[in-house]
Amino acid sequence: MMYTSTRNTALHVSAAQAIAQGISEEGGLFVPESFPVADLNAMLPLDYIGRARYVLSRFLTDFTAEEITQCAERAYAPEKFENDTPAKVVSLDAHGENKHMLELWHGPTCAFKDMALQILPHLLTRSMKKTADGKTAVILVATSGDTGKAALEGFKDVAGTEMIVFYPENGVSAMQKRQMDTQEGDNLCVCAIEGNFDDAQSGVKRIFTDSAVKAALARKNKMFSSANSINWGRLLPQIVYYFSAYLDLVQAGKIAMGDWINVVVPTGNFGNILAAYYAKRMGLPVQKFICASNRNNILTDFIRTGVYDRKRDFYTTISPSMDILVSSNLERLLFHLCGEDAGKLTAWMEALKNGGAYTVDADTANAVRALFWGGCCDDQKTVEVIRDVFARDGYLCDPHTAVAMGVYAQYTAETGDATPTVIASTASPYKFSDSVLDAFDCEKPDDAFEMAALLARLSGTKVPQPIAALEGKAIRFHNHSTADQMADFVLKQVGV
Ligand SMILES: *Cc1c(COP(=O)(O)O)cnc(C)c1O
Repeated sequence: MMYTSTRNTALHVSAAQAIAQGISEEGGLFVPESFPVADLNAMLPLDYIGRARYVLSRFLTDFTAEEITQCAERAYAPEKFENDTPAKVVSLDAHGENKHMLELWHGPTCAFKDMALQILPHLLTRSMKKTADGKTAVILVATSGDTGKAALEGFKDVAGTEMIVFYPENGVSAMQKRQMDTQEGDNLCVCAIEGNFDDAQSGVKRIFTDSAVKAALARKNKMFSSANSINWGRLLPQIVYYFSAYLDLVQAGKIAMGDWINVVVPTGNFGNILAAYYAKRMGLPVQKFICASNRNNILTDFIRTGVYDRKRDFYTTISPSMDILVSSNLERLLFHLCGEDAGKLTAWMEALKNGGAYTVDADTANAVRALFWGGCCDDQKTVEVIRDVFARDGYLCDPHTAVAMGVYAQYTAETGDATPTVIASTASPYKFSDSVLDAFDCEKPDDAFEMAALLARLSGTKVPQPIAALEGKAIRFHNHSTADQMADFVLKQVGV
């Protein structure tokens, strides 16, 4: 199995090289050159680790079976996740609907990013050994909140790695900020950026492709790598849980083997929903991908019109992990749907960079629309959804998951489609207690931990242990930078 770049198909690299490098030289993203077909019946009896080994081994043909087993067993060890399986499915079908929550937030940081970031360090360090032995990987992360903490936790004290996390100072929740600023580990640091997530992400992308900075690093026997969802090692593990959810539903008798499902994903950088699309390419019977956005609804517009236009206002919302105007992984989907034409992708991405917009050709736009349905949900509606879902289904969802549920309701109202549906539940409501409490009639306390305690009382659910444990931890990081000074900050941190 080899990988190529969305902007240069003359390139053929191994999985290890794609993972170690993170992003291709010319700025394109690594994509698999073909998709192996999965045998659902063979995967059915396996547990989560077994299913992960099954999927990973088909894409990581330059890894030994032993290496893949080690990676999967360390990442998804029972003590790291709250339940007996890392990706639990909770069916909300008491009222006759066929909808199922795929809970991806029972890991160490209470967000779905753990599903990939618990395994990425193992994949990355092995990839570095295969391709750049002896080099230290310097991992830069731009985060809208959840990635940062999950990456820090995954890479904490991993030998041969250093990590710098940038987050928008006013774009993350109090609990998310606390989670990052208290992070332990000797190989990492955290820095707040003046600006929004896109400023942080563009800053990281600029540093990645700056040849002067790269040369300075090389002299120290270091190289850049990425833990953002542009890294193939992030996407690949996410394919697993769509298979796992489907097979769990078959085992629970909720669907029959071979039945179609729809998938709803609260979407930001387009990584999670792209992993669902990759599962389909491997044979998972997914009919429709419902792409849910908050008020930053650039993807809704794109799916409906074929025009991607970032010349619009950026909104800070109560679902901050989806406050994004440039969804990087869309580039991969477009590559697959436009006939794998790197020339087209290069032109569109250049147009986006230089003019702030691009329009895909009619065939590609139709191919997107045949598979994807886009909808959006503003903050006020999101809070209503949290209230309604709790009242009706007894299910407490975080604002990101509520956006997905709100958009799913629009979808069924508009189409009447009653296909069994898996809804990605991407964060614990306790990461966003402040906003979730707005769905309850109550006086809100100021303190984040008192809010969590109140939410537990009102909802009859429990504060997850990783959040409760933050209360006693000291703030360790107070760094601050403008977007323009990020490169200098990096050079100073890595000792150049
Ligand atoms: C990151 C994140 C998302 C968006 O996922 P993408 O893969 O970036 O589309 C949605 N919800 C939560 C809670 C997240 O942390």
